[in-house]
Amino acid sequence: MKHVLVTGGAGYIGAHACKVLARSGYLPVTYDNLSTGWAEAVKFGPLERGDLADRARLDAVFAAYRPVAVMHFAALSQVGQAMAEPGLYWRNNACGSLNLIEAAVAAGCLDMVFSSTCAVYGDQDGVTLDEQSAIAPLNAYGASKRAIETMLADFGATHGLRAVIFRYFNVAGADPEAEVGECHVPETHLIPLMLEAIDGKRPALSVFGTDYDTPDGTCIRDYVHVMDLVGAHVLGLKWLAAGGASRVFNLGSGTGYSVREVIEQGGAITGRPVPVTDAPRRAGDAVRLVSGSDRALRELGWRPERSDLETMISDAWRWYQRGPYVG
Ligand code: UDP
Repeated sequence: MKHVLVTGGAGYIGAHACKVLARSGYLPVTYDNLSTGWAEAVKFGPLERGDLADRARLDAVFAAYRPVAVMHFAALSQVGQAMAEPGLYWRNNACGSLNLIEAAVAAGCLDMVFSSTCAVYGDQDGVTLDEQSAIAPLNAYGASKRAIETMLADFGATHGLRAVIFRYFNVAGADPEAEVGECHVPETHLIPLMLEAIDGKRPALSVFGTDYDTPDGTCIRDYVHVMDLVGAHVLGLKWLAAGGASRVFNLGSGTGYSVREVIEQGGAITGRPVPVTDAPRRAGDAVRLVSGSDRALRELGWRPERSDLETMISDAWRWYQRGPYVG
């Protein structure tokens, strides 16, 4: 069985990737420091606890498993935290990835699928974004991800490393079988916070900004189902295995929903009222982030199946009701 090293395999997206990798005939080997991930989420292959900063540990894991490729998810990913502590983001995300890339090259493991973000584009005045859009990250989170993209290109030129880079839009939903799902502490994302408000776990959902220049005054985002997203990663792996060149792909549904539209769907799907309070704008929020690219569809043959709002919220609600990592 072919091994794939999955950094951050105990996190939200990484755990879903492990499930789909296992289903596709690979053995996912999770490398995770469990700083934000969950040992209980590692269900589809071994867990090797370790930090990206620990080069000796990385070398030992590469030597033990001889993976055919790396899927690199491990990162800090909260914009608010990145604004408060940029050094943390540069050290953990950028320096950590440098260690990983050097360890992979030393081990002769030259295929990498990398988890980047639409935050590399910054706020571009409401235009739809494709892979050629200008790069202008607004914070150390987006900037550190962009730096890693550049690192991958540099190591590609010199060492033959090939990378499929995915720039995610807003990842949502959960495994429809609810074996894994979203579980952040603290939670900062719209849909899980909305479900907690619906469930009475928090008094209300704050709507950050109601005076934006959008039809209903709230921000617009492009939500993509986590299962569709990780499906693209397996296609990326196969692209590299077939000898494909390094390539960047946006991963979004191409459809934008406002915060109010998400709330309306949340109420309809759960059949319960959503307690809401209007709140000031959140620092660093772009008005509208929507992918205008079909490159992943055309070139990878990606076919998202669950990235409509109703399915994403329904799957997230099923996971929420089951409770994180029980049973
Ligand atoms: N949002 C909100 N209330 C919340 C959390 C998020 O109104 O409690 C809004 C946020 O301003 C953004 C959208 O929901 O417009 C999605 O935010 P999220 O944090 O889920 O993802 P981001 O777009 O920041 O990656």
